[in-house]
Amino acid sequence: MLVDRIVITHRWLEALRKIAEKAYPNEGCALLAGSIEADGSSYTYKIMKIIEVENSDRSSISFSIRDEDLINAYEMISRSNMELVGIFHTHPFSNAYPSGKDLRYMQINPVPWIILGEDGEMRAFIIDEGKGVKELRLSISD
Ligand SMILES: [Zn+2]
Repeated sequence: MLVDRIVITHRWLEALRKIAEKAYPNEGCALLAGSIEADGSSYTYKIMKIIEVENSDRSSISFSIRDEDLINAYEMISRSNMELVGIFHTHPFSNAYPSGKDLRYMQINPVPWIILGEDGEMRAFIIDEGKGVKELRLSISD
């Protein structure tokens, strides 16, 4: 079976880790913009820009993004002819797997969700319609 993958550069990976450090001990979050390529039945999501947004929950166990931040981000993404390719957030005190709340919001936002866990591990998941949650392969490029 073909696996969807996310491609991220070292530079953007570092930027995501910085967001985690800055937000600590709360969860940090960001929207990921880029391109989506389909190859048969699998997809490659390429991250080309990170839009840091504030966690309006200011919580270490959940995050929310304000509507105005979302609207601004979507406008910027469409002006740059990119697409929303993922939602990033951190788990400062748990591993890089979706929480119950994450899973509910993943249904509403069926893009890849990238989670950075307390141990520094990063994983990506997406809701596969009718099949539940599916992990994506995370590829790091130069
Ligand atoms: Zn979470």
